[in-house]
Amino acid sequence: MTSGRDANDPLVVSDDLAVADRLSIIDRLLEISDVIISEMDLSSALQMVAECAADAVKAESTAVGLIDWSTKELHYVQGFGVFADKITGVRTPLTKSIRTLVSKSGKPVVINDVAADERVPQRVITEWGIRSLLVVPLKVRKKVIGALLAANRHGGPFAVRDLRAFETIANHGAAAVAHADLHTRARTAFLQLEKEKTKIEAVLAQLGDGVVVSDARNRVIMVNSTAGKIIGLAHEDILGRNLVDIHPKPFRPEVRAILEQLSRSKPAAGLFWEQNINLPDGKVVHINMRPVFLKSGVFVGIASLLQDITDSVALDEAKTEFISTVAHELRTPLTSLKGSLGLALGGAVGEINPGLRTMLGVAENSCNKLIRLVDDMLDMAKIEAGHLSLEMDIISVQERVKSAVDRMRQFASERQVCLSVKVTGRQHKVIGDGDRIEQVVINLLSNAIKFSPAGASVEVTVGRKGSCVKVSVTDHGPGIAPAEQKKIFEKFYRAAGQDQPKTNSSGLGLSISKGIIEQHGSRISVKSAPGKGSTFSFALSIPGEEPCLSNE
Ligand code: ADP
Repeated sequence: MTSGRDANDPLVVSDDLAVADRLSIIDRLLEISDVIISEMDLSSALQMVAECAADAVKAESTAVGLIDWSTKELHYVQGFGVFADKITGVRTPLTKSIRTLVSKSGKPVVINDVAADERVPQRVITEWGIRSLLVVPLKVRKKVIGALLAANRHGGPFAVRDLRAFETIANHGAAAVAHADLHTRARTAFLQLEKEKTKIEAVLAQLGDGVVVSDARNRVIMVNSTAGKIIGLAHEDILGRNLVDIHPKPFRPEVRAILEQLSRSKPAAGLFWEQNINLPDGKVVHINMRPVFLKSGVFVGIASLLQDITDSVALDEAKTEFISTVAHELRTPLTSLKGSLGLALGGAVGEINPGLRTMLGVAENSCNKLIRLVDDMLDMAKIEAGHLSLEMDIISVQERVKSAVDRMRQFASERQVCLSVKVTGRQHKVIGDGDRIEQVVINLLSNAIKFSPAGASVEVTVGRKGSCVKVSVTDHGPGIAPAEQKKIFEKFYRAAGQDQPKTNSSGLGLSISKGIIEQHGSRISVKSAPGKGSTFSFALSIPGEEPCLSNE
């Protein structure tokens, strides 16, 4: 016969439970809480739960079972009293009958005549001689995770009045399990993170380039030894410092502004910052800073790549110096050669026969080409050394563009290319060096004509764009592959996989144009697609208006 007290019966809390007993239970519960919080030792906490539960309901034995969902078993992890040794470690399949005992409703079950209750496995009665049983599920966030059981052979039936204390103890047991589980998960996650961090640090240590990673508040959280060597500080002296402060003083305001901008950018914008920095010890470092975002788009910090380019800068400077010296040495004899050829062709040395005239003409032509090349080399050397001086004035853009177009008409007609100029708006006055701006337009036109098929057109447009005047040169030639578009502005670079026209070309035109426009405080850019032609553009500042920083 069952006691009739089951999940649906109301709980009766009896005043019969002696006050001293209650106080002792409360004391024990506090102890269990202490163990849960301080020691995080699950087995000690569950041992106390089992003991305390036995005292509360005067049971001969108690046990804590936890559900192992991987094997679908109830695993008795802790026992107390007469069955302690027998029950601890036992695993029983989560049969239907056990499931109904550890019911989802979470209500306690009292069975004071186990023989008459089909939910109780036969073994419990025959082998263990149990007569009465009390089962309370352990629940974490409304989910049943196990059970607290009390069993009696001779100790008599369980009183319904004891249930409240028993349930409270079970709740403490569940809390211990939840706490331990949380702790295990946190620890596993922490160990996993540590492992990943060690791996990343090992990879970073092998890199020849310096890497500095900072968090969203610009605190350095990761740095490799190469970065330490480049910056000239010990690893520990960089970690935790503000990213701005590890830069030389003169760069700090700029870096601060850049970090602010990068932190507010969007992942899709692909914003980054590149700069060569001269360190006080004479090193030249190339810095590339990129913002790091989570998948959700949240900004989490900055990854900086540092490259010590001191040697390559020195090599570059030596090359520039060499080019400049050679060009200077060539300029004077070439000028006198050109002068002599001009005089001879002009008849200063007497009558020359037609055959000789043709030969002298060819020589003059070649001499002019050489002078242009030498001039380009000198310009390039000046730009690289930062010695290109501009004669800034208020100039008319359309006048300069028209003059450049006029000078290129002859070349265009030789190549059967039609040149057109379109000026929108009024007279455009800008601040700039007129001769140098004309030189840029001539360079762009020369390329546009060179790369245009016979019969094609090249258009030059001049118009206002925001606070600037924008100049564009458009051709309908072969276009430039995306991968080449940045490289063509490097000196001596000529795009690969392209049929280069058989005209004199040094690969310097665009890098000189870029240098001139950048010295005007602006940018030159190209929009092009293979087979669809190209448009090169730059913009110049209008006096009294915002400075023009780009042409977009
Ligand atoms: P180059 O003296 O070779 O013209 P530039 O610096 O002016 O030197 O140009 C570099 C390279 O860029 C060219 O060799 C060519 O490959 C590419 N390029 C420049 N302008 C054009 C254009 N309008 N169309 C296609 N390719 C171009």
